[in-house]
Amino acid sequence: MNMPLIDPFARAISYLRVSVTDRCDFRCVYCMSENMTFLPKKELLTLEELDRLCSAFVRLGVKKLRITGGEPLVRRDIMTFFNAMGRHLDKGDLQELTITTNGSQLEKYAADLYAAGVRRVNISLDTLDEAKFAQITRWGRLPQVLRGIDAAQAAGLRVKINTVALQGFNEDELFTLTDWCADRDMDITFIEVMPMGDIGNEDRIGQFWSLRDLRARLAERSALTDLPDNSGGPARYVRVAATGQKIGFITPLSHNFCESCNRVRITCTGEIYTCLGQEGHSDLRGPLRASEADHDLEQAIRAAIARKPKGHDFDYSRQKVDGQVSRHMSHTGG
Ligand code: SAM
Ligand code: SF4
Repeated sequence: MNMPLIDPFARAISYLRVSVTDRCDFRCVYCMSENMTFLPKKELLTLEELDRLCSAFVRLGVKKLRITGGEPLVRRDIMTFFNAMGRHLDKGDLQELTITTNGSQLEKYAADLYAAGVRRVNISLDTLDEAKFAQITRWGRLPQVLRGIDAAQAAGLRVKINTVALQGFNEDELFTLTDWCADRDMDITFIEVMPMGDIGNEDRIGQFWSLRDLRARLAERSALTDLPDNSGGPARYVRVAATGQKIGFITPLSHNFCESCNRVRITCTGEIYTCLGQEGHSDLRGPLRASEADHDLEQAIRAAIARKPKGHDFDYSRQKVDGQVSRHMSHTGG
């Protein structure tokens, strides 16, 4: 029975984020340690398994699919997977296929992504300063990413920039970044840094820059109008009166967005996490590999959704990080 996926709190699950690899060509300081250990390749779902899994979710009512990682575009033959997912768009079963990427491979793949049916991409960029970019991503190079952004826009992809707000790092670039995006007709979303995974010696509390403060600084320059939420996700949006630009804020630590959460996440090893901020997860790779028919898989998906928690427990109050989860963002996908 293809009954839609509804969790115990009456939230319909219509949005799936899938991490297709834990590997990455960057080593962003808030995401990974420099000597990050990656999973053995045999642990990863094959592209065929990813197809079966995502297709099962589409059958069960998922309308929006976001591909993430690690860096999704470093996975070998990943375009085969995007092209395969395009069939669900063609049939109208899937409304949107999107990707979150660091942009390093977009010069190569932007046109192929468009051909596969992708229309919007999120590109992560924390600074427009070449030296700071190399510092924060460790292995990334800004000109390559800027060429990727050019290629994405030239291919017809709508670009949204994702920027992690980092105290003492990009506070001074707030207007440089927002103006640069406005000039290029790109939206921008700021993300509060989240306590995910062991990332070496970085001090997370030192990195945390409250988006309440960031928003107040934006508001000093131009009036901001709150936009109604329609994504079911953690982002809240405002319109800048002076330019018409849309600016988003993802504030899992200082606001609670859980009541409207419509999403679940799959790791590159086929674990389903029904809440980004909780450890609870279940395995879908076992049922996927146990049988070529999808019955067991669909049962396992339904059982996982039936255990989706009400909300997360992140808390940065009193200078102590509570509710910290041990897995890396690159494992679950951001
Ligand atoms: N590699 C791709 C990228 O960077 O866009 C996709 C995966 S990355 C894990 C997805 C998003 O998570 C990026 O925008 C990144 O900045 C963000 N991110 C990673 N670690 C984070 C953390 N600890 N707190 C908040 N955002 C984080
Ligand atoms: Fe790679 Fe994205 Fe993590 Fe940076 S944030 S290390 S680009 S997965």
